[in-house]
Amino acid sequence: MNKEDVAVVGAGSTGASVAYHLSKAGHRVTLIEMDQIGGGTTSRSTANVRTHYSNETLARMALYSLGVLRGMEGTGFVKSGMLFLVSEEHWPAAERNVSMLRRAGVREDVLDRTEVARLFPEVEVADVEHFVHEPESGYADPVSTARTYASMAESLGARILTNTRVERLSSSGASNSLLLGDGRTLETPKVVLCTNVWTNGLLAASGVAREGLLPIRAVPHPVLVYRRPEGYLGARVIVSDYLKRAYYKPEGRSLMYGGSIDAEIDEVTVEPEECPTQVPDDYVSAYSQAMVERIPAMKEATIQRTYYGMYDTTPDELPIVDGLSGIGLPGVYACVGLSGHGFKMCPAFGVMVKEMLDGTADVSFERSSFALSRFGSGRLTGTSYSGLGSIV
Ligand SMILES: Cc1cc2nc3c(=O)[nH]c(=O)nc-3n(C[C@H](O)[C@H](O)[C@H](O)COP(=O)(O)OP(=O)(O)OC[C@H]3O[C@@H](n4cnc5c(N)ncnc54)[C@H](O)[C@@H]3O)c2cc1C
Repeated sequence: MNKEDVAVVGAGSTGASVAYHLSKAGHRVTLIEMDQIGGGTTSRSTANVRTHYSNETLARMALYSLGVLRGMEGTGFVKSGMLFLVSEEHWPAAERNVSMLRRAGVREDVLDRTEVARLFPEVEVADVEHFVHEPESGYADPVSTARTYASMAESLGARILTNTRVERLSSSGASNSLLLGDGRTLETPKVVLCTNVWTNGLLAASGVAREGLLPIRAVPHPVLVYRRPEGYLGARVIVSDYLKRAYYKPEGRSLMYGGSIDAEIDEVTVEPEECPTQVPDDYVSAYSQAMVERIPAMKEATIQRTYYGMYDTTPDELPIVDGLSGIGLPGVYACVGLSGHGFKMCPAFGVMVKEMLDGTADVSFERSSFALSRFGSGRLTGTSYSGLGSIV
């Protein structure tokens, strides 16, 4: 067994899973987090766990990960199912995806309006022509999942440093040196960056020139949390509404999380330190009105709070899982740019990074579409759902 030392920077759902999978493979892992475990964008995630993707690799990763998240203690997985309301415009792409997903082993039910009205009477669908239902999908608790992976890694011998920032790293080929916020230095042959929107800040502080930084933008996404009214409580299906470009996720027995899949939102870029906090009132009013048109029972709901979380978005909304020797950092790897759909795949990312470092292929997800070199090739694939963000 390879007992190489690896430092994993960032303990969100990705880094914690990576730390676990590397520890399980026999590496001596140090997991370093400047906040608490899961305290980054993971803590802001609405954590939907679906398998409907148009990119086959992502679909296979999502299917694999769904099985893990469902079976693993500590993830808080809830099997609510997910209902996709598909516009006429997006139906050809959705239909192709359904065929591809079924071949990949995903359960995708195409329903008609009568069946939807019977199964989900709370959802108003008079204006919708096409419906896909994923009964196996649901949502999980993202922070608990990250903590669970971190403690599984720790029980396999990983060292965990929280409230510890990596200020910069320098690479000399055989060894990497990490300068920590408390002045200590950590020497290690391999480093994995799972640092989400903060990746380029760390790379710039480490001397990587502007042209070498990764094509990742920090995109603020609004989340609205409602208290559901008396008549609309209990476990309910998550609705992904391609017509209104929004999703509505009933959580637990009394909350509803509202989020956007409108590609327009993805055009905004912020510095990670400048992410807005409160969602403006006019956005809340417009969003709430659209949601009530779709789920009339939400008319009596009250807003509990609003907040923003950031997506680490790449130009094609596919992740970057690759080594960084091309930008002068041999021995440094990245699993970043997850573009707003990374939580549900954290088990698969753990496997993928482990296979990348070890050169093995035990589970094996095809990784070439996540290579950094794709951005220079001019052959980006992207989503087949135009106008919809973070769908891919
Ligand atoms: C509003 C919102 C809704 C979402 N909804 C979904 C969804 O429904 N389904 C889904 O699958 N995904 C969703 N996502 C995306 C998903 O949550 C993320 O892709 C995933 O959680 C990212 O995990 P991560 O570990 O890569 O990043 P993070 O959780 O951000 O972890 C990165 C960590 O690195 C640490 N760090 C950074 N720099 C340093 C440094 N220099 N030194 C030490 N530590 C450092 C940070 O503190 C942070 O904790 C959503 C995201 C948001 C914001």
